[in-house]
Amino acid sequence: MKILVPVKRVVDYNVKVRVKADGSGVETQGVKMSMNPFDEIAVEEAVRLKEKGIATEIVAVSLGLANCAETIRTALAMGADRGILVETDVELQPLAVAKLLRAIVQKEQPGLVVMGKQAIDDDMNATGQMLAALLGWAQGTFASKVVIDGSKAVVTREVDGGLETVEIHLPAIVTTDLRLNEPRYASLPNIMKARKKPIETMKPADLGVDPAPRLTTVSVAEPPKRQAGVKLKSVAELVAKLKLEAKVI
Ligand code: AMP
Repeated sequence: MKILVPVKRVVDYNVKVRVKADGSGVETQGVKMSMNPFDEIAVEEAVRLKEKGIATEIVAVSLGLANCAETIRTALAMGADRGILVETDVELQPLAVAKLLRAIVQKEQPGLVVMGKQAIDDDMNATGQMLAALLGWAQGTFASKVVIDGSKAVVTREVDGGLETVEIHLPAIVTTDLRLNEPRYASLPNIMKARKKPIETMKPADLGVDPAPRLTTVSVAEPPKRQAGVKLKSVAELVAKLKLEAKVI
């Protein structure tokens, strides 16, 4: 079974994001970029399925600027076999990403797509669901466990207040949650090997997709600054503050 893993290049999760002065978005110039953490979990899951002999090939796909190739290389160093870069400088929104991924799925015919539940830059949590809808495939979202059983996948989902287990027919879309696994670090020999693995580059037009944005960002603003904490001398003082200042009791 072939597994397709979409991997998004995002601002590294350790970076404190800064909003652009004109409020049009988040500053990415000169900022450390990395693979979206949920996508690392997706790559890890695909590699584990290959190690178990369930997957035969892992294809990592990234959509965006030319330097998304670096994100694909990271996936290749973790164990993916080859990459596809859909290069565009158009701002990609989930529907456009889902349409581009649908075209790649139709070309590659994977048995499973494993992708992040959400990208930590735009927090859309939409692309996997949109892709499943466009393809008419089953979906197991927010997965904390995936078991492939012949032509079916049993997916344990993290839902409010517990776990839900669903059985879905393959081919299907699985989106990863945080507890699915702990992604491996790529070893130096594997990073070297990854340099030789192939990456095919194409443009949205090659896939017959117009990626033009449908949503307009009205404004992006930083959250209000938190006030500094204070040390209180007594419980009485705390109760007074909770009553009179915070007005929570
Ligand atoms: P989102 O719906 O934007 O929160 O993203 C959910 C998932 O879709 C991500 O974790 C990725 O697996 C995939 N995805 C979104 N945008 C891209 C992109 N530009 N390139 C590759 N994968 C993407």
